[in-house]
Amino acid sequence: MRPLPGRDLSKSNAHFARAAERLPLGVSSTFRYWGDDRTIYVDHGKGGRIWDIDGNAYIDYRLGYGPAILGYADDRVDAAARRGMEVGGVFALSTENELVVADRIAAMVPAAEMVRFSNSGTEAVMAALRLARAHTGRDSYLLVEGGYHGLFDAAMWMANVEGWDRNSNRDPEIVSYSRGIPQELKTLAHLVPMNDLQRLEDTFRRYGDTMAAMLIEPIQGNCCGIAASADYVRLARSLCDQYGVLLIIDEVKTGFRVARGGVQSLYGVTPDICTFAKAVANGYPIAVVAGRREVMRTFRYGGAAHGGTYTAHAVSLAAAAECLRILDETPALETIARYGEALKAGISAILNRRGIAHSYAGHPSMFGLFFAERAPDNYRDWKTSDYSFYDQMAHYLHDLGVICEPDSREPWFVCEAHGTDSHCLAETLKAVETAVDLTLEHVEADRRA
Ligand code: PMP
Repeated sequence: MRPLPGRDLSKSNAHFARAAERLPLGVSSTFRYWGDDRTIYVDHGKGGRIWDIDGNAYIDYRLGYGPAILGYADDRVDAAARRGMEVGGVFALSTENELVVADRIAAMVPAAEMVRFSNSGTEAVMAALRLARAHTGRDSYLLVEGGYHGLFDAAMWMANVEGWDRNSNRDPEIVSYSRGIPQELKTLAHLVPMNDLQRLEDTFRRYGDTMAAMLIEPIQGNCCGIAASADYVRLARSLCDQYGVLLIIDEVKTGFRVARGGVQSLYGVTPDICTFAKAVANGYPIAVVAGRREVMRTFRYGGAAHGGTYTAHAVSLAAAAECLRILDETPALETIARYGEALKAGISAILNRRGIAHSYAGHPSMFGLFFAERAPDNYRDWKTSDYSFYDQMAHYLHDLGVICEPDSREPWFVCEAHGTDSHCLAETLKAVETAVDLTLEHVEADRRA
């Protein structure tokens, strides 16, 4: 779809043509490719906004998939990061600041008796699964459909609901979502649909004695913020206890965002291991594996291997110390939640005036928008719902200066700077209103055609 008049992408398009000759798809992460004529290149970001190389300004609700919890180029965090630069980088030795950040995390997160750092969400979850396997001496594990835990082989199994007949009595087939994943690894991964308590019990009865871990995002950060019921998460906890399986709550998206203590504190369920990444340092690369002391002590010589050249880099650590201080000691998260509620209410008013059925899932700081009366409560239902209205609206929003993920599975993310910028809300809602009307016209034109 060509951009609306008024949005010039000629520099991004020209850059794409050059970049695609050197960088596969012209980008450094495949999800950043939005089509040959719609892939944009960022010049810079500040607060809740970004500017592309053509000079188009956008209010951004992707926030790098969540990291910019305070807003881009936050002066407080960046000043701390600059001080971190003076430390000298990485040494293949530890620095005192690791304990400062670990103490902060332990004070904020119920499960975090001990802490280790990683560089990315993928690395942290990979370490968590290895830790669980090393601790239990078991290899298989349980995933929840619609969850995402990063780009490593063990986490890349999904329920294939394309072409699946939901009335068939059969589960969708388990497939890898990339080529290059050894198919024999599939036997180690079990998958269950979210919020089906009976299926969870049955799966533990069948495989519980051989499973090292159950991995869950109680609010699915990569599936519209679909949320587990409290009963489901509590059942997961008790089945894990009963079968000696370690519960890993992946808080890479929810951590330091939905609450100071993460999604685990909202549910009142304490995992054995939890992982964090996005909001830890407002975008500086650092991730966290935290958990129960006895389990975490399995990170040792002769136990579970863990480490890495760039782990606990001084710049990221300094940024994390300041970002977590702000999230812990100031009302930043309240500002974020209040803005998220106001944004949802504003979008609802626009849709209600036009009689468009819709609903939300997730948390106001990371919410999914559905064009259906009721939000789905698992991935199978998302897949079978109609998300074409969303897809079309997202394209118009980009043209109108509001960036949300074009894939409706990705929630809308809110940062503190959205809440403190007095124009963001009104500007966003104006664009939403226009985008909704253009989408309605588009749907009508399609119907007539
Ligand atoms: N777990 C969850 C819940 C995630 O949302 C993501 C990233 N979207 C990851 C793990 C992987 O993190 P990263 O992209 O930093 O490797």
